[in-house]
Amino acid sequence: MKNQFLLLIALAFTISTANSQDKKICVTIDDLPVVTYGINNIKFQQELTENLIRTFDKFEIPAIGYVNESKLYKDGHLDSARVNLLIEWVKNGYELGNHTYSHPDYNDTPDSQYFDDILKGQQIIQPLMDKYGMELRYFRHPFLHAGENSEKFDALNEFLNANQYEVAPVTIDNDDYIFAKAYHNAYVEKDKSLMKKIGKEYVEYMEQKLHFFEQRSNDVFGRNIIHSLLIHASFLNAEYLDELAAMYKKNGYTFVSQEEALRDEAYSTHISFYTEYGLSWIFRWGISMGLANKDLRNGDIEVPGFVMEVFNR
Ligand SMILES: [Zn+2]
Repeated sequence: MKNQFLLLIALAFTISTANSQDKKICVTIDDLPVVTYGINNIKFQQELTENLIRTFDKFEIPAIGYVNESKLYKDGHLDSARVNLLIEWVKNGYELGNHTYSHPDYNDTPDSQYFDDILKGQQIIQPLMDKYGMELRYFRHPFLHAGENSEKFDALNEFLNANQYEVAPVTIDNDDYIFAKAYHNAYVEKDKSLMKKIGKEYVEYMEQKLHFFEQRSNDVFGRNIIHSLLIHASFLNAEYLDELAAMYKKNGYTFVSQEEALRDEAYSTHISFYTEYGLSWIFRWGISMGLANKDLRNGDIEVPGFVMEVFNR
């Protein structure tokens, strides 16, 4: 009896230490249904979507996809084949969020026009999610532009609150789109070895980014908060999400939902720093708490030169 009791205590201790060391990351995918760089072949887009979902299933990633509904239209008409790509997401249990209808830049869009674009961006996904028993809850700012001054920042947050949206901050901001476009260029050039080189470099870059933001999280909060990764629904990510997921696992991470990430109290940090730039919320929170912008940004990871070169072709 006594031994059983000790065993229980030992077990409870093991579980609690394991929890305190748990590293968690939420995977968010932007610009759904797909980022194609002009490849309008629907089969290509279906395969891209299926590849992403296969990896979510394989690694038990409760991913969320942020949608631009303007991309569901072809020649002014709703294209059911593109809507089907979103149905794949919800049918397989993956949540969608609102990323506005047409991806406007809040910096140069009047508030009322921007807010209309948000409402226009829920016309398809809201009923779709209702149908699959899900609730549309989250909003992601295009370009991560959240309001360049307190008036715009507050006005947007008030609008989102009134419309039952929660903002989905990003902690691991990165330039995956540069790698994705470079990868696309190499694909168009049918240069398989270059594609492979870019893919391998991409995973290494993302690992360095992870370590950079882990460090910044420690600087700002004294701990490693639940991270929110932003990547795009690109061909590169469809082909490399497996390796990315394995990299996060190797670094001790488990994958959590958008809801769980937002429950981390770091995400409730009051923001009093406003900028026209799109940047990690760890920077916004840290600067709001009195840390220096340049200290936080110091040592950020750059895209390698050869990737920039292929990107610019
Ligand atoms: Zn976007």
